[in-house]
This record gives sequence, C-alpha cells and structure tokens, in this order.
Amino acid sequence: MSDCIFCKIVNKQIPSKIVYEDEKVVAFDDINPKAPIHILVIPKKHIPTIIDCGEEDYAIISHIYKIINKIAKEKGIAERGFRIVTNCNAEAGQTVFHIHFHIFGGRLMHWPPG
Ligand code: 5GP
Ligand code: ZN
Repeated sequence: MSDCIFCKIVNKQIPSKIVYEDEKVVAFDDINPKAPIHILVIPKKHIPTIIDCGEEDYAIISHIYKIINKIAKEKGIAERGFRIVTNCNAEAGQTVFHIHFHIFGGRLMHWPPG
C-alpha cells in the first residue's frame, strides 16, 4: 500500500534498523522504543489488522512466531523473558495499520498491561 509507513520500510523507501529479513517478513527496531529491546516483526504483505487475516495469511503469522523465537534467542532475552504484543484497532491503541508484532524485552514487564 503506497501510503503505509511499514510498506515503505519493507520497500526500503524509508530507512529502518533491520534486524532480520527473509522473503516473507521483516523485523526492525521500533523508532520510539518502550523497552531496552523493542523490535517490530511484520509480514511483507500488507495486512491491516489480525481481523483482516484470511486463511492464506495464517502461515505467515505462524512464520512470524518462528522468527520471534529466533530473535529472542539472538538478543539474549529468551530465558529471562520478553513480551509479544499485537494491538488491534482503536481501543487497543493501534496506530499503524499494517499488522505488526512488538517484541519487548530487557526489563521487567508489568501486568496487567495498561
Ligand atoms: P502500534 O501502536 O500500532 O501497535 O505500534 C506502532 C509502532 O510503530 C509504535 O511503537 C511506533 O513507535 C512504531 N513506528 C511508527 N512509525 C515508525 C517508523 O517510521 N519506523 C519505525 N522503526 N517504527 C515506527
Ligand atoms: Zn503496509
């Protein structure tokens, strides 16, 4: 989608600090980190929210979890703990409508989330 900021990151039209990339997904540092480690994992395909996933998209979501596993190990947060967050629509505070999985780590996470 031409006006989507994360599609622009996928297409390298705007810079980002990419930590992982393959043919299906990109992972990059969040521009405004909320934890010492704050990485966003996104599909290259433009899917606005989890609600917009079709049957053909669930393989990508599964792949994203595999990549989260890999990144968590590489960043040294797998054993100490980390959090995965996907905000969906207004009441969750979603601001970028290209589905993304936040990885938060490197500090104690509070519960329940705000
Ligand atoms: P949401 O609120 O939609 O769950 O999360 C969107 C996230 O995208 C926010 O944490 C925000 O800091 C991040 N973000 C927004 N624009 C950019 C950008 O241009 N580059 C990067 N790296 N992150 C961005
Ligand atoms: Zn997009």
